Amino acid sequence: MSIKENLNHIKNTFSSPDCLLIAVSKTKPVSAIKEAYDAGIRDFGENKVQEMAEKAPQLPDDIRWHMIGHLQRNKVKFISPFVYLIHGVDSLRLLEQINKEGQKADRVISCLLQIHIAKEETKFGLDEQELKEILLGDAIRKMDHIHIGGFMGMATYTEDTDTIREEFSYLRTLMDQFKLDSLPQQVNLKELSMGMSADYLIAQEEGSTMVRIGSAIFGARDTN
Ligand SMILES: *Cc1c(COP(=O)(O)O)cnc(C)c1O
Repeated sequence: MSIKENLNHIKNTFSSPDCLLIAVSKTKPVSAIKEAYDAGIRDFGENKVQEMAEKAPQLPDDIRWHMIGHLQRNKVKFISPFVYLIHGVDSLRLLEQINKEGQKADRVISCLLQIHIAKEETKFGLDEQELKEILLGDAIRKMDHIHIGGFMGMATYTEDTDTIREEFSYLRTLMDQFKLDSLPQQVNLKELSMGMSADYLIAQEEGSTMVRIGSAIFGARDTN
């Protein structure tokens, strides 16, 4: 099936029509992104800074670039002038760096906090205590160049759909809990970035507002 056909198929399976489809184009060529763009997609996700920074100038300006991978502090500057949303913020130090680069680029950079929801040790993300320290601490109140729009999480890589559902459900519940706190003006918890090719349907049932789908659109990857 073509990229366009894959996209149509995926859209037809969505249970929440307002959920944003982010096409994860990592490792795929600019020509494949162009094909998805011509089929109407404007949101693309990459997990490597260099790859995103190389592809972006070759493609139309109205694309919204989502950084979905683990971001190193010394690389923020390469995407800060144009990135639309950084999904994987998992430390206060990274947030401080993004704020600093946002100031230099004279913009407010939108971020999601990545929460550790999987049982696997390897997945990145904040635990509840770290989350509390960031959202309710003093440091964030002094940052004028970041905005936190919600949470991102990756479920365990498993066939066990009950586990996946529980993890997504936990993320939604966690965000609902934090909405009750008096949060700084930099924070407005609305978005839940959860769901990939294998689990986006469960994620939507559990309240996802944005899904990050790669292989189901572009085909299998050799790496990553
Ligand atoms: C690669 C990746 C995806 C997309 O994965 P698929 O299984 O190909 O849909 C989504 N989120 C993150 C963080 C990724 O790294």
